[in-house]
Amino acid sequence: MRAAIEAHDAGADVGVVSKLHPTRSHSGAAEGGINAALGNSAPDSPESHAYDTVTGSDFLGDQDAIEIFAREAPSDIYQLENWGAVFSRNDEGKLAQRPFGAAGSPRTVYAADITGHVLIQVLYEQLVKRGIKVYEEYYAWKLVEDGGRCRGVIAWDLLRGGLKAVAGSSVILAPGGVGRVDRVTTNAYACTGDGTGMALRLGVPLKDMEFMQFHPTTLYPTGILLTEGCRGEGAYLLNKDGERFMERYAPNALELASRDVVSRAEQREIEAGRGVNGNVMLDMRHLGAEKIISRLPGSRELAMTYAGVDPIYEPVPVRPGAHYHMGGVSTDVDGRTELAGLYAAGETACVSVHGANRLGGNSLMETITFGRRAGNAAAEEAYIAGSPSEIPASALADAERELGRLLGRSGGERPWQIREELGESMFQSFGVFRREEPMRQQLETIAALRERYASVVVEDKGAVFNSDLTQALELGACLDVAACMLKAGVERRESRGAHARPDDYPERDDENFLKHSETRLVDGEIELGWTPVTITQWQPEARTY
Ligand SMILES: Cc1cc2nc3c(=O)[nH]c(=O)nc-3n(C[C@H](O)[C@H](O)[C@H](O)COP(=O)(O)OP(=O)(O)OC[C@H]3O[C@@H](n4cnc5c(N)ncnc54)[C@H](O)[C@@H]3O)c2cc1C
Repeated sequence: MRAAIEAHDAGADVGVVSKLHPTRSHSGAAEGGINAALGNSAPDSPESHAYDTVTGSDFLGDQDAIEIFAREAPSDIYQLENWGAVFSRNDEGKLAQRPFGAAGSPRTVYAADITGHVLIQVLYEQLVKRGIKVYEEYYAWKLVEDGGRCRGVIAWDLLRGGLKAVAGSSVILAPGGVGRVDRVTTNAYACTGDGTGMALRLGVPLKDMEFMQFHPTTLYPTGILLTEGCRGEGAYLLNKDGERFMERYAPNALELASRDVVSRAEQREIEAGRGVNGNVMLDMRHLGAEKIISRLPGSRELAMTYAGVDPIYEPVPVRPGAHYHMGGVSTDVDGRTELAGLYAAGETACVSVHGANRLGGNSLMETITFGRRAGNAAAEEAYIAGSPSEIPASALADAERELGRLLGRSGGERPWQIREELGESMFQSFGVFRREEPMRQQLETIAALRERYASVVVEDKGAVFNSDLTQALELGACLDVAACMLKAGVERRESRGAHARPDDYPERDDENFLKHSETRLVDGEIELGWTPVTITQWQPEARTY
């Protein structure tokens, strides 16, 4: 939506295609906040924000992108505020900022613990105000390339059925994350990596796919998130003996070390038998009822509803869950991909700002700052392209035939079983800790699942809200994305950020692996390559919290 607003304001004729109503996007579930160096709670600067992001990324983030990000974030926040975002305020009446993990200063702007909800309403209002056309409840299935350019998408009309061709002189992919490859995830059911899958199938390169972030505080058994804001406000993590175990893993930052560090510490405690039924405990009792109710009302409600625990009186069982995909469609700092006319922004893109590990609060900011930049660049390219794009009739006919084959099949396996097996096996073999043998096995498991997927049956043949069909298509994206994750994961023989190999390669290896992995589809096979990391002013150093 931020990209659409910018492209519209730059003079482009914009349409937004979305499988959900835009305000139901996963962004609306973001709780904790959005980072910009405003310096309202303590001295801060874009340089410190950039430095924290670079170290947080375990030096895999591209520093030119990170510098732009940290520099442009503050004005993007004021813009949102001017549009009507009701951020929480401090006693001086300025925008309040709370501490978040691995941030050198309290830098996270927030609206209680419903920040994403507030932002998504504000952006949608701006779309409505501008009269930007939203094709809501259209499932984008295929990107169309013709003559070396992206020409638009082919989408399934969820409400009425049927394929529709949506042409565009520029196309910006922004379909969010892919947490649904995992069984335990904070992500909504819609986060199935559709965009990453579409780009892959068109031969567009993906970057750093092995890096899936595990958030340290997700509820058992659902994987629903309790925001980092809980620890930001002072919550402790305890093991079964009541010990604040982070003292052993990150003696300075404790619970507010970066997410990869905290998730690994929890996993170690759990594997060493010091967990509580496969969890550790998040203790907020000492914060007091007033603070919990005023600052973290949503988290309290989630804990009460989904774990049956009121954090005012009892600690909440939590464990690491798949949360955010650092990898994605490879772009430059204006969202451009390798294919002319195709852009990507938001969680589906890999610019790369987050490198091997994203800092909490940096993702919402990335969607805004790089969404805006992609919108502007895409509008300019559309203007230069001049005449409107057209989707060749043959592309639509090919898609019709492929869909016809899928819907025409009458016997065979239904997709849900494959989805379950994928989610469970990813959780077991590609979680917080990665080990050579399970990863190799997982590659084979995914290959076998992809083979089974090739003959799945969609039992519902109807046109109206055929979720049987869309879930089958989504599963295809999940399988492709998972295959790329594993392909790169096996070959990254080091531990960096969220990719931890405790047994065989426990250390970061800058000599051999200070580089981005790049996966792309060539003749139906996923091929792996490597590209350099951009370093401007910060040389790799040891990371301690
Ligand atoms: C529970 C939770 C809490 C979080 N909290 C924070 C936080 O406090 N701070 C922070 O910085 N980050 C947070 N994050 C991360 C951050 O919210 C996300 O990375 C970010 O919001 C992703 O935004 P997006 O616009 O890329 O994707 P989304 O918000 O997921 O939007 C994707 C859009 O694409 C559409 N779409 C997807 N596939 C298709 C398709 N095939 N066809 C048509 N449309 C499609 C969907 O309908 C949706 O409208 C959180 C994430 C989660 C899951």
